[in-house]
Amino acid sequence: MATKKKKAVNVKTFTIKKCPYCYSHLAVNVMRCDRCGKRVGPVESSGWAKKTIDWKAYITALVAAIIFITFFWWAFMR
Ligand SMILES: [Zn+2]
Repeated sequence: MATKKKKAVNVKTFTIKKCPYCYSHLAVNVMRCDRCGKRVGPVESSGWAKKTIDWKAYITALVAAIIFITFFWWAFMR
C-alpha cells in the first residue's frame, strides 16, 4: 500500500518558478523573465512567480493622458 507523504509547501524549497506572462520556467532568483522580458516577483506557494506592478507603463499611460487632455484643452478651450 503506497502512502502519500504530505509535505508542507515551503517557498524556500522551490528552485524554479513559472512566468505568469509566458508560462516559461525560470530560476527562483531571477527577477526578469529572459523569454518575454517582463519583471517577475518572488515565487508563490503555487509555483508561479508573482506579478509585479509595471510602474513604467502606468506612468507612461498617465503622462500620455495628461498630454492629451492638455492638448484638448489648448485646442478647444482657448
Ligand atoms: Zn515570461
